[in-house]
This record gives sequence, structure tokens and C-alpha cells, in this order.
Amino acid sequence: KMIIKELLGDYKKILHHDITIQGWVRAFRSNRFIALNDGSTIHNLQIVVDFDKLDESVIKNIKTASSLKITGEVVESQGAGQSIEILAKKIQILGDHFTEDMEKTVLQPKKHSLEVLREQAHLRFRTNLFGSVFRVRSAVSFAIHEFFHKNHFFYINTPIITGADAEGAGEMFGVTAFDLNQIPRDENGEVDYSEDFFGKKTNLTVSGQLEAEAAAMGLGRVYTFGPTFRAENSNTTRHLAEFWMVEPEVAFNNLENNIDLAEDFLKYIIAYVLKNCKDDLEFLDKRFAEEQKSKPEKDRAKEGLIEKLENVIRKRFKRVSYTEAIEILMNSKENKKGKFKFPVEAWGADLQSEHERYLVEKHFDAPVVLFDYPKEIKAFYMRLNDDQKTVAAMDVLFPGIGEIIGGSQREERLSVLQDKMKEMNVDEHELWWYLDTRKFGSVPHAGFGLGLERLVLFVTGMTNIRDVIPFPRTPNSAEF
Ligand code: ATP
Ligand code: MG
Ligand code: MG
Ligand code: MG
Repeated sequence: KMIIKELLGDYKKILHHDITIQGWVRAFRSNRFIALNDGSTIHNLQIVVDFDKLDESVIKNIKTASSLKITGEVVESQGAGQSIEILAKKIQILGDHFTEDMEKTVLQPKKHSLEVLREQAHLRFRTNLFGSVFRVRSAVSFAIHEFFHKNHFFYINTPIITGADAEGAGEMFGVTAFDLNQIPRDENGEVDYSEDFFGKKTNLTVSGQLEAEAAAMGLGRVYTFGPTFRAENSNTTRHLAEFWMVEPEVAFNNLENNIDLAEDFLKYIIAYVLKNCKDDLEFLDKRFAEEQKSKPEKDRAKEGLIEKLENVIRKRFKRVSYTEAIEILMNSKENKKGKFKFPVEAWGADLQSEHERYLVEKHFDAPVVLFDYPKEIKAFYMRLNDDQKTVAAMDVLFPGIGEIIGGSQREERLSVLQDKMKEMNVDEHELWWYLDTRKFGSVPHAGFGLGLERLVLFVTGMTNIRDVIPFPRTPNSAEF
């Protein structure tokens, strides 16, 4: 038994041998040619059906989407674009095709919109597009592990259910083991969490950073890579309620090292995909080009998908301080003409995605790393710079995506951290363990968070984050 990818990769040795292959029918032409796909590759394998040798009742039942087990001889193919085909000697139908039900699904062989495909996320794995997207997603995940492994990082896992709620990264989903019909409450009607299974209020993780810092204080270089949850109560094409985040944390590192790490890391993954996902990228590249044609000329991408990826790894990312960015934005035509929904008026303003996109797509026309943000708009743990006004924060912004990475050098000085926590109303008692990490050999350290799906969006050329995660979870979507 083989999978189609193996077969196509190394068919010379088995030419004229019999093999057994299994898959789903993508098309059945002229009652003679089956295009079989098993998910291992974008390519279909052509099966040639010989009526004289096969049971006619079986052949009559071969329909799009049914699953087959086929034994036959591997022969060279005359057809264009395929190296081999299989002369079928035996065909067994493994799974029936329910015609009436299928008519209502995205398995029906015609073009379906992404919205309709999204409603049938459980079936879209069978399409060329989503086959490619999810194979690329898998390759990206693998490349992430490979990059860190090669750079001597250790993969650690941080809690999914956590009581560390002071991170301030986003809205949280609470977790409870209470019987929902008997939630204990105090005299003021507040939930009494001391009675809960966990003995305190807990939530699903919004970031593993604080725990990763603790691990880095012993292991040196670590990364987490796991599901992350944010109750983002808005429908954007860049936010999910459940996504996958990669968070490296490195002891003895400053902000500049951290930016270098982020740039090397992103480039490594993009190069990996270019090298290892050629077939899928070619398919996605064509789709991307088709999609551009249907847009008004001014909105069309200047480069093809593959071209874009190749250019990104060639150029050094632009590094721009928040202060420079604010100047650029304040003096931009867009700002002066009132084209921004949020006009940029003064230093200190939080940047909105329209501002980030202006910088990346219009002003610099390249990936941009913004650094040294005002301390008021960033989290308590970021390292205070000597100017006492900014913190050593950085965001990597990508064309078409906006923020893809957010990171910082962390405040390693206990007393500065404590002052900052007071200022920002973060409870010291809750985070006693975090403060401990600054008490016994504290060192400068830095790290960042990358949203896996945002990177997959970038490398696949897809535009909605719901289309790069197998089962998207967003407001009002809990089908799966
Ligand atoms: P944004 O400004 O886009 O809301 P953020 O600043 O809230 O992102 P961080 O807390 O910095 O996000 O998290 C690190 C990274 O995780 C982000 O740069 C992004 O790539 C990713 N990310 C954050 N929130 C989401 C989400 N809801 N869905 C998918 N990815 C996300
Ligand atoms: Mg956010
Ligand atoms: Mg942000
Ligand atoms: Mg951020």
C-alpha cells in the first residue's frame, strides 16, 4: 500500500509492478479515467479502467467523492502533465456516494465561494484549495519546530487553564468546574471561586509568556507553541477566538537580539515553505493571480504570491521607532486629508491597523518592525527605556496582514517591575511567582508571540483567517 505522494515521487522502481492505492474520486471521465486523490498531494493519480477486466456493476457505481481501493499496474502515462497512471485490475468501492445529500454539499464539482466552504468546514478538506492550505499550514508548524531545534531552543508547554490573568493581552474565557445550576455566591452576589475545583478564578490562556519567562530563567532558550484563546468580540478577518501562538523566550537577550530573532525566524519559515511546498505554492500562486484579475486595478497586488515570498526573504526588514512612525503618520497626506478613521494627532496615540497598513503597504512597501512604544499603551512587563517614557517593545508588521508578531524585552529589574505593576494596577500577590523570577539571578531577557494563522495567511495568499485554520472559532461559530 502506498500514498500518491510517495508513488509520484519514486515511481521508477515500481514501473510495471502491481500496487494498491486508496483515495477519493475527484472526477470520472468517459467511463474510463478516474482522477484519484488521497490528500497527500495536490496531484491526482490517473486510474485507467479496463471494461473487459473489471466488474461492470462496480464501474457503474464509481461516482465523484466515493472512496476506492484499487490494485493495478504502474505504467508510464502518455497524458500531459502526469508521469504515470495505473491500469486498474481490481476496484473496490469502500464508501458509497449518497447522491441526493451530496447535491447540497461543497463536494459537488463546481466552484463554491469561500463563505459556503466555510459553512462546511468538515468537507472542505476534500477541495484542492483547502488541501493545499492545510498541507502548507502543517509545513509551517514543522518549520517552526525545526528552526527552534536548530537554534538550541527547548519546546516547553505552558498551562491552557491558568490563574495568571494579569497579562492584559485580551478578553478571557473563564473556566469553571462548578455545576452551573449551583454556583456558590457570596453576600454581594459575586461568584465564590474558593468553592471551585481550582479554588480560584481561572481562565483559558491568552498567552503563555509569563510562564515561558520562568522556564527561560532556567533553560535559557525556550518556546511554547499551543492553542491560545481570546474572547475577541468583533468579526475581523485577522482575529479568531481560538488560535495557535508560538512564543519564544530567551535569557540574556535584549530588544535588538529579539528583533533579529524574529526576522531570522520568519524568513526561515518562508524559505522552508518555498523549498518544501512547491506544488501547493504553485497552485496557490495561480489562484492568487486569478483572484487579482477580478479586483479593480488599483487594488491588485503588485507581485505574485511566490514572488512576494521570495522578495520578503531577500530584503532586510525596515526598523522604525514608534516616534519616527508617528511623525510619518502625522505628516502623511492621508492624515492631513482626513482619510484615517482615527486621525493621528499626537505622540502617545495607539496605532490602529489602518496606520500599520499605511506604513507597511504605502510608505515603506516592505515588512516593518516598529519599536520603543510609549509605556502607557503597552503591557506592564515590558522593559522601561532610559527615557522613562518608552518601553522596549516591538511589533513586526507584514504587508496585507498588519501585526504578525508582538514582542519585547522584559523588565528584569525587580523594583522597576513592582513600580510598574502598581502604576498599572496589576496585583503583586497574584503574580508572586513571576516576581520570584526577578529575585534569584535575574537577567535581561526578551521574547515575542507569533500568531500561526497570520503567518499562514501570508504564505498562502488567503485573506480571511477563518480559511487557514481547520475549524475556525469566532463569535457565533461553535458548530464544531
Ligand atoms: P492585534 O493587535 O492584531 O489584536 P495583539 O497585539 O492583541 O494583536 P498580541 O497580544 O501581541 O496580539 O499577540 C501576539 C500575536 O498573536 C499577534 O501579533 C498576532 O499575530 C497573534 N494574535 C493575537 N490575537 C489574535 C487573534 N485573536 N487571532 C489570531 N491571532 C492573534
Ligand atoms: Mg488584540
Ligand atoms: Mg496589537
Ligand atoms: Mg501585539
